[in-house]
Amino acid sequence: MKIAIIPGHGGFDPGACNKNTGAIEAKGNLAVALKLDEILRYNGFETVLSRKENIACGGATCVKDDITNQINFANNSGADIVVSIHFNSATNKTAHGVEVLYTNYPDLNQKEIQLANMVLNELVKATGMTSRGIKETPQGVGLIKWVLKPCILSENGFISNDQESSWCTDDAKQWIIAEAHARAICRLWNMAYKSPRDEGGVQVVDIDQALKALVQNDVISSPDYWKQAAGCVKYLDSLLINMAQKLQEVK
Ligand SMILES: [Zn+2]
Repeated sequence: MKIAIIPGHGGFDPGACNKNTGAIEAKGNLAVALKLDEILRYNGFETVLSRKENIACGGATCVKDDITNQINFANNSGADIVVSIHFNSATNKTAHGVEVLYTNYPDLNQKEIQLANMVLNELVKATGMTSRGIKETPQGVGLIKWVLKPCILSENGFISNDQESSWCTDDAKQWIIAEAHARAICRLWNMAYKSPRDEGGVQVVDIDQALKALVQNDVISSPDYWKQAAGCVKYLDSLLINMAQKLQEVK
């Protein structure tokens, strides 16, 4: 399976910027795309990137050429699906949340809508950001309208929102976004997802395993109490599993 990754903007075009936080969309898009590339290759996919540095696609110097180059790149890539990475922006500084755009060509076997939904769901789960839904490409959004294969464009939070702009600049948060995309892409082909960050570590998958690890590390002493609590308090089980997983990773 081959995936084409298109980090939006670059070069002459920084994309959206936030003067308060210093976030620049083109840089965040590229950082997420490079991480996604690494994770997908780790999962056995073939990948191709439209850019690997701070230039517009094909070295374009205007938006029209940049978009045209992206369309040609996607159509000639030989990829099964195309994923373009962006961050959103709005004049209303409180606008927030993630959304995924798609085109829905009738002959694409619904794969595009399926992928858009999967990426959106994984993003919401992993980042905790609000879902703004999947959206059929509006007129004027150039890239995905002309790509003749399943193609989605993810907007991974608002740069114009001071809080959400950290998803564009923070390395750990960029990994979370990239992993959410990779998880969705694996699910599209019913493949088990492997995180490159789990390598060598023991994957903690259930509450019993987690409690055992926490007892062994002297974090808790009464696993029965915590097991009962996890049955009553929402998300406590995933919190305990995460804690145990982190302990395994630092070992
Ligand atoms: Zn953008």
